[in-house]
Amino acid sequence: MVRWELIDHARYSYWGGLRAVVVQFSRGCPHLCNYCGQRGFWTRWRHRDPVKFAKELARLRREHGVQVINFADENPTVSKKAWRIFLEALIAEAVDLILVGSTRADDIVRDADILHLYKKAGWQRFLLGMENTDEATLALIHKGATTAADREAIRLLRRHGILSMATWVVGFEEKRDRDHWRGLRQLLSYDPDQIQMLYVTPHRWTPYFRLAADRRVIQLDRRRWDYKHQVLATRHMPPWRVLLWFKFTEMVLQSRPKALYRTFLQPDRGLRHAMRWYSQMGRRVWPYEIFHFLRDPMTEHGPTVEQFWGAPQDDEEEAMVASRPVRSVRDSGAPHPPPPMTAPQVTAT
Ligand code: SF4
Repeated sequence: MVRWELIDHARYSYWGGLRAVVVQFSRGCPHLCNYCGQRGFWTRWRHRDPVKFAKELARLRREHGVQVINFADENPTVSKKAWRIFLEALIAEAVDLILVGSTRADDIVRDADILHLYKKAGWQRFLLGMENTDEATLALIHKGATTAADREAIRLLRRHGILSMATWVVGFEEKRDRDHWRGLRQLLSYDPDQIQMLYVTPHRWTPYFRLAADRRVIQLDRRRWDYKHQVLATRHMPPWRVLLWFKFTEMVLQSRPKALYRTFLQPDRGLRHAMRWYSQMGRRVWPYEIFHFLRDPMTEHGPTVEQFWGAPQDDEEEAMVASRPVRSVRDSGAPHPPPPMTAPQVTAT
């Protein structure tokens, strides 16, 4: 039971100044993406009682004036059955809430027949952890996704009036200009509403760390190992060029005519507000990131990842994975770093 009354809700906002909380319907994720820092924490996917959870969210609206619910789940939609019960229970409460969170594209495709319930319950945006549009890179990181499902998920969300934010990861060792160019063109063809660019960042307890162990570290400040700074050298490009692609991709995706239409002219007022708020944040982040890139020099001849962090720690992780019951990928979903938020990080487990 979460003691929501202990929080001064007026102090926490998100989604452009709306009163907000962070909740968690479930913990864990059955997928095996080898870079993921989350799954080592929660060994088994489990979820709260969907009806009680819906009632709790409704109480937050009625008793505390909360307007936005930000799901911090790694992967809330793993069980279609539980998720549907939750959506129907929340719809029955008839509260006016905005729901935002992350999930996997293949879960959205799986749930094509109940996406109207997502919308009716209040879902306004999903972050879809796509990471890349290159099948070889998706295989390298064991994403278990397909580009076809990623594309279809965005289309389905749009059809149901829900925004999609695609995450996109750069900094893989062998990428060249032509790979970035191809990626940008593929992203454009996916046509997500929003983009969140990240840098590949190996965590010591994940299998991906082993793959990256010999790569050169260029960011020696550990506080900057936060996905938003390039930390590893790439073989064919200096960091300034990676940053250039990073920023160029963001700029093209967020300022193309379709994005501008969705930001300023689309008929749905709520979605317009969400798009405008996101682009306002982007405009503030842009100069900040470029300024810090110029001000804080990176090292050119740093240690390898293993020298910097120590030996891999994924043995325990591997043992845990081996002892996990096998699940069908069709019965699962998932995400990534949740978007930044100023509401309290309270989990509702
Ligand atoms: S689907 Fe998302 S939460 Fe699950 S393992 Fe992959 S990155 Fe992690």
